Amino acid sequence: MAKLTVTFLGTSSAAPTEGRGLPAIALQREGSVILLDCGEGVQRQVLNEGVGLNKETSILITHLHGDHVTGLLGLLQTMSMAQRKKALNIVGPPKLLKWLEVTADLLHIGLTFPVNFSPARPGTVLRTGDFKVKATKALHSVEAYCYVIEERSRPGVFFPDRARNLRVPEGKLWSRLQKGRKVQVDGRTVDPSEVSGPPRPGRKIGYSGDTRPSPRLSRFFSGCDLLIFDSTFHGKDKDKAVERKHSTCLEAAETAKSAGVRRLALTHFSARYTSVASLVRQARTVFPDTIAARDGLRLDVVYPGS
Ligand SMILES: [Zn+2]
Ligand SMILES: [Zn+2]
Repeated sequence: MAKLTVTFLGTSSAAPTEGRGLPAIALQREGSVILLDCGEGVQRQVLNEGVGLNKETSILITHLHGDHVTGLLGLLQTMSMAQRKKALNIVGPPKLLKWLEVTADLLHIGLTFPVNFSPARPGTVLRTGDFKVKATKALHSVEAYCYVIEERSRPGVFFPDRARNLRVPEGKLWSRLQKGRKVQVDGRTVDPSEVSGPPRPGRKIGYSGDTRPSPRLSRFFSGCDLLIFDSTFHGKDKDKAVERKHSTCLEAAETAKSAGVRRLALTHFSARYTSVASLVRQARTVFPDTIAARDGLRLDVVYPGS
């Protein structure tokens, strides 16, 4: 069973603090990486956390506020210095490409690898070997997107008795059927559906970026195994969250509850809170399975029931 790990590279909002860098998160599954936002200095965290510069990589940028995007150029430059050759997927607001082209040109940055840019828009924005990525509009002060990253479904439960009844010899052919592939037995084709249950859904991770909550977003994040949500403010500072188009820890918890997710990670904390313990406590009154992200925190996302 492939391990799916989420590593928080930066968990502050707007400005870095002594203990927290700017927003960036890495999803890792068997040699491939998805980066969510690229706060300043992200490449140092990528190296510190062993994420790697030469993997199959896709980068999803939520919006063009400096704290979420200024690290991207430095990361691309560091990848070039490491002689990266593999194409890199980037998804983000349409103007992101313009910013990249202009700054790369002004700073004389040449890349050693091709970039496949997909403009973010509501709907499916990226398909990789492991994942499908969907986007929806966030409710923020500039054009911004939330993302859901869905692992491809797994083949259904394998029933050995059915395989034996169909005279499929145990061994290589069983293993092929278990991987969801057809096999030939005595000149006859056996389909995996004849010996297995229905395909099982893959794991699902949601990332809000900067946003106000809304029922539409709760629907978008419905059934996520892990939801990573804007928790810039404590519930008592809701007026500031409304004014700056962010969410409070309580609103993040209410979203998690109405979306029916399995686990909530709060992130993007305002530098005004020296400790975020009270934010987690408050969120847990609404959604008990809540944790606070911190730089370097690693979470394994497991299948339901495992
Ligand atoms: Zn932000
Ligand atoms: Zn923002």
